[in-house]
Amino acid sequence: MAIDFTLAPEHEEIRARVRAFIRETVIPAVEEFEGEREAPREEYLRTIFGLRRTARAEGLWLPHMPKEWGGMGLGHVELAMVQAEAAKTRLGPWILNCAAPDEGNMHTLLHWGTDEQRERYLRPLTEGVATSCFAMTEPEVAGSDPTLIRTRAVRDGDEWVIDGHKWFISNARRATFAILIARTEDDVPEGARGATTAFLVDLPQEGWNDVREVETMHGSTGHSEIVISGLRVPDGQILGGRGNGHRLGQYRLGPARLAHCMRWISQAEHALDMMVDRALNRYSHGSLLAEKQGVQWMIADSAMELYQCKLMVLHAASKIDRGEDFRTEVSMAKHFVAGSLNRIVDRAIQVHGALGYSTDTPLAGMFQHARWARFADGADEIHQMRIAERTIEAYRSTGSTSSATGGLPL
Ligand SMILES: Cc1cc2nc3c(=O)[nH]c(=O)nc-3n(C[C@H](O)[C@H](O)[C@H](O)COP(=O)(O)OP(=O)(O)OC[C@H]3O[C@@H](n4cnc5c(N)ncnc54)[C@H](O)[C@@H]3O)c2cc1C
Repeated sequence: MAIDFTLAPEHEEIRARVRAFIRETVIPAVEEFEGEREAPREEYLRTIFGLRRTARAEGLWLPHMPKEWGGMGLGHVELAMVQAEAAKTRLGPWILNCAAPDEGNMHTLLHWGTDEQRERYLRPLTEGVATSCFAMTEPEVAGSDPTLIRTRAVRDGDEWVIDGHKWFISNARRATFAILIARTEDDVPEGARGATTAFLVDLPQEGWNDVREVETMHGSTGHSEIVISGLRVPDGQILGGRGNGHRLGQYRLGPARLAHCMRWISQAEHALDMMVDRALNRYSHGSLLAEKQGVQWMIADSAMELYQCKLMVLHAASKIDRGEDFRTEVSMAKHFVAGSLNRIVDRAIQVHGALGYSTDTPLAGMFQHARWARFADGADEIHQMRIAERTIEAYRSTGSTSSATGGLPL
């Protein structure tokens, strides 16, 4: 059994280049615009699109895609370190063209698209000239159970006519196309797969009405409510075959969830760095905060959790790379990393006191962003349900729960 956590020299070199690019080029360029109430928008856009061109020219582009699609051709383990380096700043993954939702949509198109669909939709995404959204969640039914989807597509000759209601569709206002999940089959019972189908929808288009960007606890940051009314989509725009909407959504979410974890680890580490830095510089009751046992416990708990996060993500990524069943490991990682991120950022705020609650540090914004991690892309309780199901099944079929705890030789 080979356990080796060192990176191959060529991957270490990539990590160093991504780190240098993010720290020395991206962060200083983006920071110039932070804190400005009246940010000069055109200049800002010119800067960030310029950073994307530089990333591409330097070969730091599409770390999650194969080389034949202009990507870096990395496995998921190597991708973990690139995503973690990129996410040191919020825009980092977007600049490397590996941000959600485009990143998950690229995987999906690569796996499920026809040659024609890939050329028409995937190619422009990889070249950074198109952007996309994924439209599944509906306000009227639980997003946790996509078999309940009500948005309906009815066949009319060579076309489908779609009516329905979606919300929290990230990036919809900027997207040049959507992957839209709609119900096409009536004879599939509730809870069973096979009732829905994925459609590729060019945007903007008549029948697709972006009625508002939903205001959230971290502002109005690009998650749209969409009313779909008489939207016409040709039959050839079905992605992945009729009745495969649920399977396609699940396929998309596996690696996409892990990619979220990779970025969350980066945010959690940033919060822990800030916690320790503050503890080393704040004096109270005769000593530094870093010398107080109560603060040390917060630091130690955070360090232990972050270590667990990293091991879980690396192990789940290695299972994906080896072509093994990774569902339980990705569920565990998603649940644990999302919770750790919330706990670690919360502790960092605690150690900063009023300063942590202010918007003078990034912590307040990080805390607001972290909160959705515990229910989006699979709520905590859904992952717990699946983990428990597989653990019980492992015991039933083998007399041991061992295979449900990572299948590790311990
Ligand atoms: C920032 C953000 C971006 C998003 N982007 C997108 C996007 O681009 N595209 C898209 O389609 N969706 C998107 N979503 C929606 C997201 O995927 C859903 O919020 C998620 O699937 C949960 O669905 P829901 O909100 O309807 O919650 P519900 O399904 O109503 O669940 C609410 C709560 O009920 C509990 N619960 C539900 N089912 C069970 C169960 N079986 N057992 C125990 N407890 C349960 C859980 O605590 C859960 O958190 C986004 C959401 C956010 C916040």
